[in-house]
Amino acid sequence: MIQLENVSKVYSTAKGPVHALDGVGLEVAEGEYVAVRGPSGCGKSTLLTIIGTLGTPTSGIVRVAGQDVGSMNSAGRASFRARQIGFVFQTFRLLPYLTVMGNVMAAVAVGEAPAARQRAAEILEKFQLGHRLTHRPGELSTGECQRVAIARAMINRPKLILADEPTGNLDPQNAAGVLDLLDAFHQQGGTVLLVTHEEEAAARADRTISLRNGRVADPSAV
Ligand code: ADP
Repeated sequence: MIQLENVSKVYSTAKGPVHALDGVGLEVAEGEYVAVRGPSGCGKSTLLTIIGTLGTPTSGIVRVAGQDVGSMNSAGRASFRARQIGFVFQTFRLLPYLTVMGNVMAAVAVGEAPAARQRAAEILEKFQLGHRLTHRPGELSTGECQRVAIARAMINRPKLILADEPTGNLDPQNAAGVLDLLDAFHQQGGTVLLVTHEEEAAARADRTISLRNGRVADPSAV
């Protein structure tokens, strides 16, 4: 599902270049659930951004779902991303002026809206948000917000979910609920890449990779 070969990312800043990723190689099979861990600043978010085609590497090859992402232009990446990848972030990133249903539907292409609306209602019902469809994010608990964000990530039936510390802002009970939803996606054959600092979250994954200073740490040394 994911193949990275010798991927590097250098950010240019006023204070000089920042080497966020330094020759990363990574293979994630379809249907695998992989946790990514490592200290703050080691490149975890950059890695997810590049796999998610939101950012481009400075060098190296990135393949996602069999496609060479580097050969796509930005419009191609955007449509690929919408069809193949769901994103979940620590801070939810919901649109505050849209309802719960509106937030989920915001991820859907206009032509696909009629069929997706029914699917969205079913997903939200399953996520115990059926009574919240017309509420706005400001009226929801943090756990509910993250469940809306996961519904949004799943609405286009992606093969891959990229989750960047999705439980970082949640209490243990809501965190477990969110991890259960990712587990269910995985059990139905979905691939999950989960960035997390938390032991309980990483324990849900099939395996863990560790990043250190923009490099994948030697598994035998972890
Ligand atoms: P992590 O998610 O592990 O905390 P990041 O991928 O966010 O790590 O960051 C890796 C390194 O790249 C850090 O040194 C960070 O300051 C730097 N960095 C991240 N994003 C940018 C950016 N847009 N511009 C400049 N430097 C960045």
